[in-house]
Parts: sequence; C-alpha cells; structure tokens
Amino acid sequence: MKVPILTYHSSNIAGNDYDSNNHVALAEDLRTIARLGLRIVSVTEVVDALLGEVPQSSVENAVALTCDDGSFFDWHDMEHPHYGPQRGFAGILRDHTEQTGRRAQMTSFVIVSPDARAVLDVTCMAGRDWWRDDWWREAAREGVIAIENHSWDHNHATLPRTVQHEQRKGTFSTIDNRADADAEIRAAADWLDAHLAPQRSTLFAYPYGEWNDYLVREYLPRHAHEHRQRAAFTGEPHPVEANTDRWLIPRYVCGHHWKTPGELESLLREMRG
Ligand SMILES: [Zn+2]
Repeated sequence: MKVPILTYHSSNIAGNDYDSNNHVALAEDLRTIARLGLRIVSVTEVVDALLGEVPQSSVENAVALTCDDGSFFDWHDMEHPHYGPQRGFAGILRDHTEQTGRRAQMTSFVIVSPDARAVLDVTCMAGRDWWRDDWWREAAREGVIAIENHSWDHNHATLPRTVQHEQRKGTFSTIDNRADADAEIRAAADWLDAHLAPQRSTLFAYPYGEWNDYLVREYLPRHAHEHRQRAAFTGEPHPVEANTDRWLIPRYVCGHHWKTPGELESLLREMRG
C-alpha cells in the first residue's frame, strides 16, 4: 500500500498559471493522474484500507485529493477581482468526470466556526463573504466534495479571540490539553454532525499541519468515543503506507511539495516503484 494524498487550497489564486493558481494546478493534475492510469479514491477509502476495514488492494494505483480551510471556491465558480473568472474545485472535478468518464472527488477540510470564518473572510480574503457554509450540505449530499473537520477556528492568529484558553494563537501546537482539544476538534465535529446530518464527520486535518504528542498519543486515540474522529492528517510529504500512524496521515501540498506538472508526475511515478 502506497497511496499519495494531494492537498490544494482554493483560495490560492495569485495569477492564472500553474504555480500561482491552485485551480489551474488541480485541472492540470487531474489530466496527469488520468494519463498515468491512476484512480482517484476518497480519503475515507484510504483510511478504511489503512484500518483494515477493506483490503489494501482496494486502494492500489490510486491517489486521493483533499483541500483545506473550506472557502467558497472549493464549490463555487467566481469572478476574481484581479484574475478574472475562476472555476471552483467542484466544477473542475465534475468537468473532468464529464470529459473522461473517470470518477473525481475531493475532501474539503473546513474551518467550522461561522464567526471565525466571518472574520477570516476579511483578514485573509477580500471581505466579500466568500467563506460561508451554505454549500456544505449540498456538497455532502452530492459527494464530489466531502466535508470534514479542520478544527473550530484554526486557532488563527488574525482572530481577535480563539478557543485556545491562553490565546496562544497562530499555531496548533498549543492545543495540548483536554479543554482546548475538545473546543477545537470535538466541538467542530459536533457542529458538522448537527448541520450535515445524516453525514458524520470522522476525519480531521491539523491546522497548519501542526500536531503535538498530547493530540497524537493521548487525546485522539484515548477519547475517540467522544470526538468520533477515525484519523488525522498532516502536511508531511509521504505516501500512506501499511504502517502509517492513523493520527499522522501524511499529505503532499501543492505549491510546497510539488510546483510543476513534471514534479507531480515524478512523485506519482515513484509510488509505483
Ligand atoms: Zn488550514
């Protein structure tokens, strides 16, 4: 078992080229994946295989796709104030399936708190109400973009207040105790389950890709019946293999771990040995 998980950010739009625009990159990467004869599976299927719930052969020659933060452009096409019309990730995936007949899907790890998103929409984007959750339910139902947990408020530095009890913000490594972990992870799962029922959130992606021993060795494994997460994802550039720790599932990040279609192709070819 050697499955690469690729990660994108739909808010990464600083031009209209592969290296400046994650929408351009995703569309191109889908063509590369198809040309190499790889299948796209969901991260849920990868976790099922890792945990032995389905045979590992079910994710052979496969890749999985994720995106982080849950902004509007995971789902919607939009007119960018500087770079013109942009196809949303969902549209790019649907286009690919329509053109090639190949299944394409992605999991979006969303920042759950509506109040946090309202502030981040101003501090991290253009303040145009592009971080709403009104598409999540429809997305969860359709299945092209699955919705999972990227914490309550990302413990984001630009928020006036986060749920981290000492306001040590801008990192996830300070989420190192029960109360803060419940506030960031369990409360986010509760909100998603209440709003997206009958869907259940079971996967968590660490904000900033940062974890600590408390989360990995204690909170996530020992309180699973409470937070209900089955696996957690980092941003470390490795494939998922049979011995991967379920609380430290690695992912390759577009723009960091590969910057060109050629780099992605070599990365994917390496998987096949
Ligand atoms: Zn994030």
